[in-house]
Amino acid sequence: MIVDSHCHFHLLKRPESADEALREAQRAGVDYFLNVSVAFEETPNLLAFSERHAAVFTSVGVHPCGSGEDPAAEQLARQANHPGVVAIGETGLDYGDGPGDYGWQKERFRRHIAAARLAGLPIIVHSRMAPADTLRLLQDERADEVGGVIHCFVEDLATARGFLELGFYLSLSGILTFRAADALRETAAALPMDRLLVETDCPYLAPVPHRGQENRPAWVSTVVDKLAEIRSLSSAAVAQQTAENFFACFPRAGESVRSAPF
Ligand SMILES: [Zn+2]
Ligand SMILES: [Zn+2]
Repeated sequence: MIVDSHCHFHLLKRPESADEALREAQRAGVDYFLNVSVAFEETPNLLAFSERHAAVFTSVGVHPCGSGEDPAAEQLARQANHPGVVAIGETGLDYGDGPGDYGWQKERFRRHIAAARLAGLPIIVHSRMAPADTLRLLQDERADEVGGVIHCFVEDLATARGFLELGFYLSLSGILTFRAADALRETAAALPMDRLLVETDCPYLAPVPHRGQENRPAWVSTVVDKLAEIRSLSSAAVAQQTAENFFACFPRAGESVRSAPF
């Protein structure tokens, strides 16, 4: 079983539709998907897609860099009251624009943690060039009580340990295949296998040998294969372990799989 724990079907330009991207990924052997929200306005679309496809779970949230509607915690929690929604996010901190005042991102991040607490759901954390502040905010807000995943994990082992101590899972992306990612591969070799997920983050971060193209959920197996190589395990074992971890990280996904007739 293979799960793409973080993808954006609705940001894909190719194939022509989210439905076609899903069919392509299913033909490639990917079983489940978490279609992650980046904009609150998109929520109805994401919910409808998840209603049509039992293999697709979804989240509710606003990306740390998103400039659209900025809902209150109660609004986020209300929208999350839907069987297809398994998480709040993606939320977090993104310092990719260089030095500046990121107080508003921290406020939004805290609001998402509050929403997760209200909804009884874990969070999907986006942390870019902000490992220390992300960890501190998660600690300050007692995010261990909601749990979740640090998606696209690229930090060092010491930072990983901080997130793991809070009970968070770490999700590895196609970056693991990049030529310049030796340090990440070394870290990935030392992380606990029962706390790792795999993702594409498509349309971003196309893995080797697809660099320069739009990424797609069908290519999550490339991340599985690379992690298998690093850990001297079979791809099947890594796929199975990361799928089990996914359902442990997002319990509502597990409930819906058990209750769905497929
Ligand atoms: Zn992200
Ligand atoms: Zn994302």
